[in-house]
Amino acid sequence: MTDWAKEDLKYIWHPCSQMKDYEELPPIVIDYAKGINLYDIDGNCYKDVVSSWWCNLLGHCNPRINQAIKKQLDRLEHVIFANFTHKTAITLCQKLMNVVPKGLCKFNFADNGSASIEMAMKMSFQYHQQTGNTQKKRFMALTDAYHGETIGALSVGACDLYSSIYKPILMDIVRVNGPDCFRCPYGKDRDNCQCECFKNAEKTFEQYGKETCAILVEPLLQGSAGMKIYPPLYLKKLRELCDKYNVHLIADEIATGYGRTGKMFAFDHAGVSPDIMCLSKGLTGGYMPMSLCVTTQEIYDAFYADYSTGKAFMHSHTYAGNPLGCSAGIEVLNILKDENIIENAQKNAIYFNNIIKEKFLGLKNVGEVRHIGLINAIELVKDKNSKEAFDGKLRLGYQIYKKALKKGVLLRPLGDVIYFNPPLIIEKDDMDFVTDVALECTKEILDL
Ligand SMILES: *Cc1c(COP(=O)(O)O)cnc(C)c1O
Repeated sequence: MTDWAKEDLKYIWHPCSQMKDYEELPPIVIDYAKGINLYDIDGNCYKDVVSSWWCNLLGHCNPRINQAIKKQLDRLEHVIFANFTHKTAITLCQKLMNVVPKGLCKFNFADNGSASIEMAMKMSFQYHQQTGNTQKKRFMALTDAYHGETIGALSVGACDLYSSIYKPILMDIVRVNGPDCFRCPYGKDRDNCQCECFKNAEKTFEQYGKETCAILVEPLLQGSAGMKIYPPLYLKKLRELCDKYNVHLIADEIATGYGRTGKMFAFDHAGVSPDIMCLSKGLTGGYMPMSLCVTTQEIYDAFYADYSTGKAFMHSHTYAGNPLGCSAGIEVLNILKDENIIENAQKNAIYFNNIIKEKFLGLKNVGEVRHIGLINAIELVKDKNSKEAFDGKLRLGYQIYKKALKKGVLLRPLGDVIYFNPPLIIEKDDMDFVTDVALECTKEILDL
């Protein structure tokens, strides 16, 4: 273990980690980074094909974003955002107006993804309280959902790994059986089904729609659940159902926004708009902690009244509208446009998916290779025919992760799902390299 790693462990409690694991695999001390490459203090390089927790959109130390932040830094680093504003935040919103789904037009800032989810939930609840539907006090969310780690966000989430111990202190959420296309209970195929599984949403709305403020969804891609992918038709149907029951549709586009699914937002595939959209991660290219809750004029108007009515949205975060975050946000949008990033990534996505299918589909323990945009997931199973999963205690994904690190690739499997979610600027030779390494490591661990 290097001296720096020892010092790290003396003080730092790392996120989402069993710290005892660090005895065997100490923290890797990163010195600098460029594009998709991370370099540690010993000069080893790691290909960051998970975009450092899905947020790095355009490569590390992107020269244009670096420049934008440096320029902003010497002008204004932060200012109170109540009654004060600045050109950088205004410009960001002007630019976002051109790309967000139709109908969304009011931007409320927070500083991380979970905080924007909390904001969306409070906003929806208060809207219904102030528009005569005081019976609406509950939230709906899908099975296998992930919406963040604060108590409210954890409540709507449904990944036991993160939430089971906290169940006694979480909110009582109405759960809708979400789509499970790999193990479809109707025996259908995600490319040509009619979302037969949507029946469960209809039943649930029938029973609980009246008392429900909003339903939260990760559109098309349930990331933390293991990169589960489902068709846009589901969102279309959900839009209709929400309208019927006066339930807000909250799009958690924190992971799917900014071209990750091949379009600017996942909702764009469905051709419908949510009532509230949460953004973070790609919003600043993965540079600064910033998030947004974007909503409609109609919701905004329900809070707009004389002060004495008490209808204001009394929600704030110290770093709301932080100028450094906004300057990164503007430059990200400029780059996406100037450099045709999403279109180019879509072309590369075809190549990426093809080589992954070629390399992995033949393995006897690969249940499915699925993809959306540049995101590709390889689900390992004990038995291909029955789709039976491996025993979680084997920690196969974690074994593969450790092996791949030694070969210079940062994978971070979700259970037994190996996935790639690289910066949109990844090039073909890197795609070849990282998939070769992932294949080698998978074969070694599975003894194939
Ligand atoms: C990352 C993520 C969040 C939480 O964002 P944080 O900034 O980590 O709090 C919420 N929802 C989804 C879909 C995410 O991927």
